Amino acid sequence: MNDSVDAVIVGAGFAGMYMLHALREQGFTAKVFEVADDVGGTWYWNRYPGARCDVESLEYSYSFSPELEQEWEWTERYATQPEILRYAQHVADRFDLRRDICFNTRVKSADFDDKATRWTITTDDGSTAHAQFLIMAVGCLSSTNLPDFPGRDTFTGDSYHTGTWPHDGVDFTGKRVAVIGTGSSAVQSIPIIAKQAAHLTVFQRTATYAVPAHNRPLTAAEMAEVKTHYRELRAANRLTMTGYGSRSPRGDTNAVDSAPAEREAEYERRWAAGGLSYLGGYADLLLNKDSNDTAAEFIRRQIRATVKDHATAQLLTPTNVVGCKRLCVDTGYYATFNRPNVSLIDVSEQPIEQITPTGVRVDGVDYDVDCIVYATGFDAMTGSLLKINANGPEISLQQAWEAGPRTYLGLAIQGLPNMFTISGPGSPSVLTNMITSIEQHVEWIRDCVVAMRERGMRRIEAEEQAQDEWVDYVNMVANMTLFPTCNSWYLGANVPGKTRVFMPLLGFAPYEQQCIEVAADGYRGFAFA
Ligand SMILES: Cc1cc2nc3c(=O)[nH]c(=O)nc-3n(C[C@H](O)[C@H](O)[C@H](O)COP(=O)(O)OP(=O)(O)OC[C@H]3O[C@@H](n4cnc5c(N)ncnc54)[C@H](O)[C@@H]3O)c2cc1C
Repeated sequence: MNDSVDAVIVGAGFAGMYMLHALREQGFTAKVFEVADDVGGTWYWNRYPGARCDVESLEYSYSFSPELEQEWEWTERYATQPEILRYAQHVADRFDLRRDICFNTRVKSADFDDKATRWTITTDDGSTAHAQFLIMAVGCLSSTNLPDFPGRDTFTGDSYHTGTWPHDGVDFTGKRVAVIGTGSSAVQSIPIIAKQAAHLTVFQRTATYAVPAHNRPLTAAEMAEVKTHYRELRAANRLTMTGYGSRSPRGDTNAVDSAPAEREAEYERRWAAGGLSYLGGYADLLLNKDSNDTAAEFIRRQIRATVKDHATAQLLTPTNVVGCKRLCVDTGYYATFNRPNVSLIDVSEQPIEQITPTGVRVDGVDYDVDCIVYATGFDAMTGSLLKINANGPEISLQQAWEAGPRTYLGLAIQGLPNMFTISGPGSPSVLTNMITSIEQHVEWIRDCVVAMRERGMRRIEAEEQAQDEWVDYVNMVANMTLFPTCNSWYLGANVPGKTRVFMPLLGFAPYEQQCIEVAADGYRGFAFA
């Protein structure tokens, strides 16, 4: 493989794969580096029981190729991890992507030579590659967060992180299992682990809101219906705030202005339909605490009606704003706690004291287990980026982000010329259907480098003022919402020492419009040479 190319792309998940294809189509040479031994990113790594998407499969898929859209058959409303991985592998085969991907290779550092206007990229085997552009497709949720509990490494049983699950699977039959964490991965895996394990002990720091998935096989009729109108569906999704869900549109009235009976009926309807569109019932659910309370209380009542033991139900009932931590989509999560082989330990007041050789100690009590599952999530959005030593002419990425991530449009960083970030902080990314956001970023970057080539430009860099204004804008939007009110990973609150900044930008459609306008205005806010 050539070590001097137009673009080096880091990561071979959905972002890196499409970026490679899009650049090649325009006649650029590109090379991808990927730590894993295959494509798929999230869906390569997260093989825990129950892992599946929570944006519906028919929408959580690429739209760039109508042929691909037509030929691929999703089997369930929410595809499982193996099916999504097969889809990624199919895309790699179909577009012959693997010949430009170096697997089993981690990018360690990248240095920009301002005279040559080229990056030198160094990988973990010590080899280098050279490229005019460096495109970070490293993923928002790809750097696992493994809390540094005292004694963690003394545990003599088996430990797993949901984000780096063994490829051969794990059989918990007859085992005493601890699951630490109650976010999305825990909510998906707990019901399945509970069915296998002799005993499951769940350690919960914050109770979780989950709405039912009502997952089911897709019928030939509904698949045909979507495939007939795929273009319209994709276009309609791009006009939403989240990049998906146009078939279940967001309400445009406010919950506080609706009569209680009407609200109840709307929540019932969305609960029965299942999935994330629950929060789309009203326009103000993430803007107004009183409105949010009505949606939260509906879920709390469902929990109390499901969980038989009063004390357990109390512990499982969240008190925070619904949606300010990522809403979970579940299949039997709360009901799992009615099983005699499942217990719930609250670690909100008394945190996990220690991992012992035989289990987990909380408040002086030892819970002996054979296996520990860390469902403790990710160092989101910045984790994988900051693991790469990227050095601009005068400043490194680490220095640029010392006080938290700063970007222009979530696409570029002042001080790091010719470097782009796909779904970087400051873009809608994790608040959307990420494939929609990835496609929008890839296409914007492609069009930008094509425009540079046409105009004979070799260097692009975000301007400081444009970046400052963008960061202020992202914060202003966040502060208009209820998002900053919880200790979420959106804010970096799950990683000790991480600067608290609300990282994603709310609102896909207005964001895409801004990106279009920036480009139409000669890439306003960027300096070229
Ligand atoms: C369990 C789970 C469920 C999810 N469900 C949904 C969903 O339903 N809907 C949705 O929209 N989003 C979902 N997401 C978010 C998901 O991450 C994105 O949808 C999407 O897959 C991200 O693609 P990506 O290519 O940007 O990043 P990733 O898929 O994370 O790929 C990044 C790749 O970069 C590689 N990499 C990182 N650093 C380096 C380096 N230094 N050198 C070389 N390679 C590197 C990684 O190994 C990884 O393979 C989910 C995430 C998780 C964890």
